[in-house]
Amino acid sequence: MQLTNRWGVFYDASMTTPSLERFNIGVNTPAGRLNTVLDVPTGFVPITSIVPLTRRLGEEILKLEEHQSRSSGRAVSCRMGCAACCRMLVPLSPPEAFSLLEYVEQLPEERQAAIGRNLAASKAELAAQGVLHRLESVADAERPIPDEELEPINRAYYALRHPCPFLENEMCSIYEARPAACRELLVTSPADLCHNFVDNPVEPIPVSVRIGTVLGLVWATVSESAPRLIPLPLALEWARTHRAAAAKRWAGAHLIDRMLDTLWRVLSQGFETGARGEGREARD
Ligand code: SF4
Repeated sequence: MQLTNRWGVFYDASMTTPSLERFNIGVNTPAGRLNTVLDVPTGFVPITSIVPLTRRLGEEILKLEEHQSRSSGRAVSCRMGCAACCRMLVPLSPPEAFSLLEYVEQLPEERQAAIGRNLAASKAELAAQGVLHRLESVADAERPIPDEELEPINRAYYALRHPCPFLENEMCSIYEARPAACRELLVTSPADLCHNFVDNPVEPIPVSVRIGTVLGLVWATVSESAPRLIPLPLALEWARTHRAAAAKRWAGAHLIDRMLDTLWRVLSQGFETGARGEGREARD
């Protein structure tokens, strides 16, 4: 069986198990076509159940970008042990915040306690620097915050070079559960430029689709709330406060359909922006 949704993403149901249905999907991206499989839960599931597979889609799309960049002589220069980018403000979609809380709550108690201490110390430092209340206003906003308002907050945070509360000995302590935004930042410029992303000519790999944005929009649709992104230092606290919302369930196929529609819409906007950009370059 092959179905095509209104955005042109095709699904092909090829295999079923009692709790999962496997679909082949094809997605056109600016870096080429991605053909992959999705295992869709057949029952009613919480929003967190679509986080791993949506992140994987994002990583597979990013691999196409990486491949394209490498083919043009610009290989990724990021290396293990380099955590220069872990001083930037990381935004999480609500589904990712819920997932992170699930992940942390299944860790041994002493790890949870250490994470709690790190987060408390991080908040105290951010409060002392006058940035915490600005992050709280982002997490609690009941309206989408435009980029012009977010930009000065991002800059104020980055000016502190405040290490992520999950960074331990310059290594990510939640590597397998790290947010999509962390997975999406790869550079091709020399690593020593990364100590100053603002003034140095750092060259990131283009990101065709931000998975945090996709998951945030899916959550806004199914929960009928404003699209929001939550600053990482506040994500666990935010997820605890909204536990009741995290417990809601939807048909797995419905969530996947919403996610693919949103993914394609965001990709289409990127294509349109790219086409306009090329048109502008042609005119200049
Ligand atoms: S979550 Fe991990 S990868 Fe992301 S900023 Fe924090 S330490 Fe770095």
